[in-house]
Amino acid sequence: MDFIPYAKQWIDEDDIAAVVDVLRSDFLTTGPKIEEFENAFAQYTGVRYAVAIANGTAALHAACFAAGIGPGDEVITTPLTFAATANSVLYLGGIPVFADIDPETYNIDPKDIERKITTATKAIIAVHYAGQPCDMDAIKAIAAKHHLTVIEDAAHALGAEYKGRKAGTLGDMAAFSFHPVKHITTGEGGMVTTDNKEFYEVLKKFRSHGITRSADEFLHPGHADDAWYYEQQFLGYNYRMTDIQAALGTSQLKKADMFIERRRYLARHYREELQSIPGLILPESLPGTDPSWHLFILQVDFLDDNRKKEFFAFMQERGIGVNFHYIPVYRHPFYEKLNRDCFCPLSEMFMARAFTIPLYPAMQDAQQERVLQAIKEYMQTKREDYYV
Ligand SMILES: *Cc1c(COP(=O)(O)O)cnc(C)c1O
Repeated sequence: MDFIPYAKQWIDEDDIAAVVDVLRSDFLTTGPKIEEFENAFAQYTGVRYAVAIANGTAALHAACFAAGIGPGDEVITTPLTFAATANSVLYLGGIPVFADIDPETYNIDPKDIERKITTATKAIIAVHYAGQPCDMDAIKAIAAKHHLTVIEDAAHALGAEYKGRKAGTLGDMAAFSFHPVKHITTGEGGMVTTDNKEFYEVLKKFRSHGITRSADEFLHPGHADDAWYYEQQFLGYNYRMTDIQAALGTSQLKKADMFIERRRYLARHYREELQSIPGLILPESLPGTDPSWHLFILQVDFLDDNRKKEFFAFMQERGIGVNFHYIPVYRHPFYEKLNRDCFCPLSEMFMARAFTIPLYPAMQDAQQERVLQAIKEYMQTKREDYYV
């Protein structure tokens, strides 16, 4: 019996050929493949600018830097995310503040954002959890009222649509990840998208030490014609992507729509098969959204810590990889030490009852049937035990 993981990349011969071409070329990094990937990505998402970067965490760090986050600035985000979202704020001395989730979409609740705003609030990071776009109209209205920058954490949301526009175009900047479990992969890799030229200039310098070689940006006078000259203008990082990764990214992006179509098909089938089973809770989508389903989340109404352990073992025995996204960020020991009051009751309830079931484009129909059979068997045998 083969093991079905919760996620897996799809690499084909075109991807391999694209990488091998770069290995035979003159540039392994800072070459032409970077701009090629950036242009293709900007066109795919529908933004003016895209900046390729070492990974999704670096993309978030860069976006927070460009947004001007600094010591003491508060940034409101969801606790239901990978720690990297909040870490990117801490890297800059900022303070992540957690607003609770909406119990139906599992995305950040705009009403709780509003409650958490203080005079120190500078930005909102909206995570499109599982590939479902956040309630962006509400979030942008709050941001406009309080002069906040909106950053999308679109690591789950390549190709997801909100009112006819793709994730990555819905805030002031957006961060994407190309880790192998995400929609497309470059091994490690990320991208920041924006329509704002000033953010774009900062992002490009941030990924390479804060250094520029563009004469029109030089702060020191008299060097406009010096081909040898360059300037470091702020403290940046080496967050560059290689040409090897960028070539893989361009090749993967050509298949993105096919990957997403397959994810949407599998998600629809999960929904059809599971929605009428008593005790199972499925995610709801906002009207006007077309999620790209990075994850498919189920909640079982009678799970608690012990039963969740039993459920994971039950699925493992049947060769099915279940997972959990995410432990509320403020519950990690490191965040507990920061000792901030940020308990989010709906995220806590979600943690007790939710888990991620396998979903990836290469998943075969027969594999999905195995997952469905196992869940149905668990619900039939265990829910009755519980309720009698
Ligand atoms: C994957 C992910 C990241 C980080 O991306 P990396 O490429 O792994 O650094 C950030 N936020 C969310 C929501 C993610 O899923």
